[in-house]
Amino acid sequence: MSEVKNHDPECLFCRIIQGEIPSTKVYEDELCFAFRDIAPQAPTHILVVPKTHIASAAEIGADNAALAAHILSALPKIAAAEGLTGGWRIVSNVGDDAGQTVKHLHFHILGGERLSDRMA
Ligand code: AMP
Ligand code: ZN
Repeated sequence: MSEVKNHDPECLFCRIIQGEIPSTKVYEDELCFAFRDIAPQAPTHILVVPKTHIASAAEIGADNAALAAHILSALPKIAAAEGLTGGWRIVSNVGDDAGQTVKHLHFHILGGERLSDRMA
């Protein structure tokens, strides 16, 4: 159970980080939290989120660049712990055209099989 900065009580991922909604945690540090996607689109499908409520990657800028870099630096550790030696994909949907359904910045890690050649 962790505190979320700029927490939005209505936000699903804020609630997951805070332990109000259960999740399968795979990684956590002081700034980010990672858990298994409830509807996996690959054998390994993990969501990595900051412990700060940021709506999407459209909000990344000079003010939170260090946090964004921290999350990116966590991704290879998580992929290695999952045994994704053959490769993996990072996806971050931004806004309606990309189909973003949860308005809390998240990076999908997908892997565990040969992924589609198409990204969209
Ligand atoms: P996006 O469509 O990029 O906003 O991704 C949101 C992701 O959150 C989807 O892949 C959902 O399957 C996933 N998701 C929704 N609810 C939960 C939940 N309670 N626990 C884990 N993953 C979830
Ligand atoms: Zn949130």
